[in-house]
Amino acid sequence: MRYYRFFFSLFRCGLLALVFSPLFAIGQDIMIRGTSDPDGFSPEEFLSRYVQISSVSGDEQEAGRFLSSFCREQGLYVHVFTDEPDSYNFAASLYPLEEGRPNIILLNHIDVVPAGDAHGWRFPPFSGEIADGKVWGRGAIDNKAMGVMQVLASLAFLDTLAQRELPYNVTVLAVSSEEVGGDKGARLVTDRYMDLLNPAVVFGEGGAGIYDLIEAKPEKPVFGIEVIQKRRLYLEVVAAVEASGHGSVPREKYSAKELVKAVNAILEIKPKIIVDPVVQDGLGMVGDHEKFLRRKVMNNLGFYGPLLAPYFRSDPLVASMLTNTMSLTHLDNSPGAYNQIPTYARAVFDCRLLPQTSQIEFLAQIQKVIEPYEVSLNILRTSPETSSSSQGAFYYALEESIYKVYGDGVEVVPFMFVAVNDNRFFRRNDIPAYGLLPAILTNEQMESIHYFDERMPIRELYNGIDVYKQLIDNIMSIPEQEF
Ligand SMILES: [Zn+2]
Repeated sequence: MRYYRFFFSLFRCGLLALVFSPLFAIGQDIMIRGTSDPDGFSPEEFLSRYVQISSVSGDEQEAGRFLSSFCREQGLYVHVFTDEPDSYNFAASLYPLEEGRPNIILLNHIDVVPAGDAHGWRFPPFSGEIADGKVWGRGAIDNKAMGVMQVLASLAFLDTLAQRELPYNVTVLAVSSEEVGGDKGARLVTDRYMDLLNPAVVFGEGGAGIYDLIEAKPEKPVFGIEVIQKRRLYLEVVAAVEASGHGSVPREKYSAKELVKAVNAILEIKPKIIVDPVVQDGLGMVGDHEKFLRRKVMNNLGFYGPLLAPYFRSDPLVASMLTNTMSLTHLDNSPGAYNQIPTYARAVFDCRLLPQTSQIEFLAQIQKVIEPYEVSLNILRTSPETSSSSQGAFYYALEESIYKVYGDGVEVVPFMFVAVNDNRFFRRNDIPAYGLLPAILTNEQMESIHYFDERMPIRELYNGIDVYKQLIDNIMSIPEQEF
């Protein structure tokens, strides 16, 4: 028993890192190559300038124009999809999109989350300060570093282009509104311009390089490539019992009471441990570096899962990877005085389904437990089923590019993202999408995302550019029939 607890706490630590990603920086002795290129800017200066243009969701236009102008000036073909104050989306490509070549899409988002209280920051949040070998400011990591890496890597192929014909186009796709659901960004672009984009593959955000994931070798960085996401389902439970009146004479049944009972029944459901093949794959690869028992468990989650279910369920992060989750996010009822029985009451659940779960069966399970109560169950929002992006030639091209840049001392594993990001809009159109920020970040740097003091290490900015260059190079040699 105690051993399981011990195992579990370590296991949890690793998952925490994998879910929220990165920990410590690699090779302190890696030199930053050339601080200025012939055009007179360095990648960190470029990122700094980009960060200085605040682009909180709904206000992306100026930052988007900055990035697209730069791409155009440097010689990429720019196609602007939308140019509005609250929706700026563009593509910057090696070849014009109209040529219809199979396209390698490098996806990033222009928008950032608000900075919060500026007093919490060491440097003003939109200063783009360059200090201590890092670029500081909101968006420095999420997701402007990625935009900068992708653009600079693509530009490196303009020379190649002059010498020989490339089999694929390469397109940096910069979109709006990722942080608020993607409606005015990736959703809009994939709804309207899929044919023009003609994607063969998409590389977007997702995992990153992290330390402390392997308990037996905490110093070994692990890169998690997101190949699949959980599915989001918002459910509403409504009680509208025809009973109202004075609180001094309670009825047998009334809306608030029925709702509370039904909600309680839902919260009492013990979710089954379900091991998605991707989760098993990724944790199994991590487990291969572990000591005996831990390795055994991590390699056989399907077998040990049910035995360890109470432990797995009791931890939010582990549970998010191994179960269908439900969070009660809203509770409200019709307005009235304190002595008035409400006629209407409502609860909302944010449910996250594992890829293998049938939505119909999931709903049936809930329906069954609320059966005794006078409530109705409604779907507020659901997302279509998507399958996992297979670990085919494109996945291996990315994996190989990471090994080329970082050496054999790192591990690369596939993983499932428990939240959602823009990759889903492509996967649901059967386009393989792989999610990774090709950089290693410390735990503190990782926690700065969506918080104070967001900062991108310059060394990792350079490494990321190199990974993308290597990736493009690798893909150019994959024959088209291989994917
Ligand atoms: Zn992001």
